[in-house]
Amino acid sequence: MNQKKLRVGVLGATGMVGQRFLALLEDHPWYDVTLLAASANSAGQAYADTVRGRWALKTAIPGAAAGLVVKNASDVKAISGEVDFVFCAVDMPKQETARLEEDYARAETPLISNNSAHRGTPDVPMMVPEINPEHAAVIESQRRRLGVKRGFIAVKPNCSLQSYVPAIHPLMRFGPRQVAVCTYQAISGAGKTFATWPEMLDNLIPFIKGEEEKSESEPLKIWGHLEGAGIVAARDPVITVQCIRVPVSDGHMAAVFVKFDRKPSRDEILGLWKDFQGRPQQLGLPSAPTPFLQYFEDEARPQTRLDRDAGKGMAITIGRLRPDSIFDWRFVALSHNTVRGAAGGAVLTAELLTRDGYISAK
Ligand code: NAP
Repeated sequence: MNQKKLRVGVLGATGMVGQRFLALLEDHPWYDVTLLAASANSAGQAYADTVRGRWALKTAIPGAAAGLVVKNASDVKAISGEVDFVFCAVDMPKQETARLEEDYARAETPLISNNSAHRGTPDVPMMVPEINPEHAAVIESQRRRLGVKRGFIAVKPNCSLQSYVPAIHPLMRFGPRQVAVCTYQAISGAGKTFATWPEMLDNLIPFIKGEEEKSESEPLKIWGHLEGAGIVAARDPVITVQCIRVPVSDGHMAAVFVKFDRKPSRDEILGLWKDFQGRPQQLGLPSAPTPFLQYFEDEARPQTRLDRDAGKGMAITIGRLRPDSIFDWRFVALSHNTVRGAAGGAVLTAELLTRDGYISAK
């Protein structure tokens, strides 16, 4: 892409995911972050002042963002006049989020969201760019419904499924029928650090509100197909998930068990993982990790601290593939929850949609 950079706004810029957006977009070849927005509490203050004491990343606040005056995300018209598209990661009640996001789309501003509010909306694509890039076509139906020309909403799925769905995807030809997963999820997934959530030290919490339902249902939309004006969810596989919060800063691990219609051999599975490339890799998108899937023969890998940053936090690491006595195969998989599972996944989605012409300069 050899053109002027697009002007990008980040809604929810002061939060955990918002901060990741700023770090990932610093020096991005296609995008310039020119506008930051959050709640009325932060609006009107310089960004560096409003995140003082709650900047959670090890890297410094990007220089260009530090001095920007934070806007109120609900000023949709004014913000839409200043940017080409926005990323959204606000923590608001679901209905308010849904309304806010639709207001941006109606104001002709493409919006790529981390929130769950529109994941169930049939004409909103829920994308993992390596898995279902063809779902972007549903944006035309959404635009017709909203009566707009360039605005739309696209979402990324929940962070909990971003390790095991990519690992199972290359194996779809063998007909996975039953999938059981236990996730071990980092505290940044709740927008927290050990400083703000000391109860998590030396502790596990066996409940994450709403997470298991999302982990079980969202993969079926991702593996669904376009029919009429919406995405129709796949019916298989049946997925059962338990989600557990663990004392880890970043990185969601999953222990996965899969039963197939036709049991693949170990070599077939490893070969398909090794060779898997999605459209982002084929197009060489700026945030696409190569390889996307990385398998370790070492039985003690992947480990959260050692491997969550593989592919700059955008790759999925897998290990411990072995036969199972109830299912066919079991393995573990790891993804970085605030990079691939949140901001990074949204940036890659935006890159794909920019490359495919859905996002452009106003
Ligand atoms: P967070 O750290 O609590 O940040 C929330 C952000 O929302 C802040 O910028 C906050 O602004 C803003 N906000 C709150 N109320 C608002 C309002 N009424 N209007 C406008 N902005 C408002 O939350 P987070 O962890 O970044 O998560 C943000 C969203 O991403 C959530 O929907 C979450 O479920 C989703 N998500 C998170 C992860 C993860 O790993 N953390 C992964 C995937 C998806 P103020 O600072 O002004 O209050």
